[in-house]
Amino acid sequence: MKSSPFKISLLCASLSAQAYAIAAIDEHTYANLDEVVSTHLYLDLNVDFADKELEGFVEHTLAWKKKQARSLVLDTRDLTIHRVIYETAEGTWKAAKFTLADRDDVKGSKLTITFQNQAKRVRVYYNSRPEASGLQWLTPEQTASKSHPFMYSQSQAIHARSWIPVQDSPAMRVTYQARVQTPKEVRAVMSADNTGAIIRDGDYHFDMPQAIPPYLIAIGAGNLDYKEMSHQTAIFAEQQILDASVWEFADTQAMIDKTSKMYGEYAWGRYDLLMLPPSFPFGGMENPRLSFITPTVVAGDRSLVNLIAHELAHSWSGNLVTNATWEDLWLNEGFTSYVENRIMEEVFGRERAVMEQALDTAGLKALLTQISEPDTRLNLKLNGRDPDDAFSSVPYTKGQLFLIYLEEKYGREKFDAFVKSYFKAFSFKSVTTAEFERYLADNLINKYPGIVSPEKVTEWIHAPGLPADAPNPTSDVFDKVDAETKAWLTAGKAIAELPSAQWTVHEWLHFINNLPRDLNQERMVELDKAFNLTDSTNAEIAFAWYMLAIGNGYEAIYPAVEKHLTGIGRRKLIVPIYKSLISHGKKAWAEKVYLNARPSYHPLAQGTMDDMFAQ
Ligand SMILES: [Zn+2]
Repeated sequence: MKSSPFKISLLCASLSAQAYAIAAIDEHTYANLDEVVSTHLYLDLNVDFADKELEGFVEHTLAWKKKQARSLVLDTRDLTIHRVIYETAEGTWKAAKFTLADRDDVKGSKLTITFQNQAKRVRVYYNSRPEASGLQWLTPEQTASKSHPFMYSQSQAIHARSWIPVQDSPAMRVTYQARVQTPKEVRAVMSADNTGAIIRDGDYHFDMPQAIPPYLIAIGAGNLDYKEMSHQTAIFAEQQILDASVWEFADTQAMIDKTSKMYGEYAWGRYDLLMLPPSFPFGGMENPRLSFITPTVVAGDRSLVNLIAHELAHSWSGNLVTNATWEDLWLNEGFTSYVENRIMEEVFGRERAVMEQALDTAGLKALLTQISEPDTRLNLKLNGRDPDDAFSSVPYTKGQLFLIYLEEKYGREKFDAFVKSYFKAFSFKSVTTAEFERYLADNLINKYPGIVSPEKVTEWIHAPGLPADAPNPTSDVFDKVDAETKAWLTAGKAIAELPSAQWTVHEWLHFINNLPRDLNQERMVELDKAFNLTDSTNAEIAFAWYMLAIGNGYEAIYPAVEKHLTGIGRRKLIVPIYKSLISHGKKAWAEKVYLNARPSYHPLAQGTMDDMFAQ
């Protein structure tokens, strides 16, 4: 073992996870993490569906870092703070003074609590408000059962502060317990041990014994049924979608077992899934022990289950080893996209994994031509922007391609050992890009000299765009699809002769995405007649077809597009459609559809679209 600057920093980190909070500069928190840190939260919340509020208190257990410090600064956004009390060293509870600063558009309102002496615990009584950016409240009509209301949280990136006054930085970690009360017939679940939610009685208790960053604290409540898939996995869902979800995600246990074999034991006990209503603005959210999942991946043929592989992969990259700031997001998402694809290869074979790489790479290359050059770097500079802006296929797919590049250069044996050791070295810690670079230098680049230069690593992490020698995944299966497409378009092959009956969803996506963008109306009608694409029940295929059709002025899709846009709220599947409608002269129609759909969208999707239509 040789000494290096990295080893010293790792030693500090192993003494205290909070050592990273000091090293990392997180511009998106007000918290005074260098003076005091929360180590444990106790939440006591009532879910008030009528007023669309969570109401109750949070109790922070504090560890003080500086002798002279007398204040605790918490992040909040749109919270009503009722009162604050604290426990003195002698064990008595007293009222604490607090001030709530004016609201900043990105960071929310700074809550400063001051004490006469350093408090052991502090309790903040508050309620969230209906406009909370991290919560969505759905009426019974907006759910599958139509009988009960539904609410759920989305705390990443900095939305935990809209429902909990908290030190909202990924550089710190807390354990938590909670008591949640709901109407009797509603079941609540959290990103925690959900044993206390099995009996549906409106009074639920949760325990999360492993320390997690606040963006992974999550809650959901609705008319939720429950079904086991294996000894370690189960699904919480409305009854209408429960059995279909259990069938769709039957490979979840195999995914856990294969990933544990490759990258070290699964650290979180159970791995359950919560099926959300179609308005969920994301594909999935990796809340520990309980991933939140969009129903748009329940396709009936297990074709979109790479989403489960993705959320599961976060159990190692992201939840176990966490980006220290949102500018380091690629450490979460690049590693997760890489591990996701390795899981898909293990469970479904190399051919499918490569098709998924190729589809994602094509998407990345299209995006690179559309966004500003600085935003095509892995290690982003947000400069005060909302961290939600950091989420694009750059941290995901460019990050993944960088890791595939290293894998190809060093070979799987050495690279897998490196990734496994990285997850182990930083488990239950947060890591900055600079710390990762030191670890990479020490454990791969300098360990096996002459294979990849330090300059090449710097180019991948800090330069815009893709390096000239970036991997370019190609699939033989897609090459065959391309040949068939060409035969149809230029050699007079009849559409009925395309071997489409055997095509997987991946081949369909490749086929549609690679058709010329200026197909004439006869071709569009021919395609639609032959394959019924306008009415596809696969949300991804429908999306790809609508994007082609809008660009081509193919009007027959509009009733189906309206249904698509009002039926789901997953941003990836709706935002580009609105954008394309606007740029193809359909703004008035799009706005009419949007205003009708808006009440069922999540606040995050509403924000994105409000901005778009205001321009
Ligand atoms: Zn992810």
